[in-house]
Amino acid sequence: MTDTIFGKILCGEIPADFVYEDEHAVAFADIDPKAPVHLLVIPREPLPSLKDAVQEDCALLGHLLHVCKVVAEEAGLDEGGYRVVTNIGEDGGQSVAHLHFHVLGGRTMQWPPG
Ligand code: 5GP
Repeated sequence: MTDTIFGKILCGEIPADFVYEDEHAVAFADIDPKAPVHLLVIPREPLPSLKDAVQEDCALLGHLLHVCKVVAEEAGLDEGGYRVVTNIGEDGGQSVAHLHFHVLGGRTMQWPPG
């Protein structure tokens, strides 16, 4: 659980202010924001990446997406819109091996992403 930065955040070893928390998930601000609002939604369970998810994780994945919606609304992004991203593996640009969804908003996003 503690072998990634996010595992250390979950156990309190590295500080982070949770903007949301429940039994299964927490959300906090990204330390290096790429938009005026940049939140990370992570499961308490140390699933490394979306590619490691199995059928039994469907409820958790749905819950995490719902938490993305909740924290986006609470951050005032509902009207203008926002982006939810999960990077997967090396080519996907994933740098922390603990599943996380980025919630980005507060500016117009570009497409396609780099
Ligand atoms: P990834 O690159 O894996 O998709 O996203 C990992 C994210 O974690 C990056 O956006 C990075 O800025 C963020 N991050 C890395 N270390 C920390 C930290 O110690 N605290 C917080 N709040 N975010 C972090």
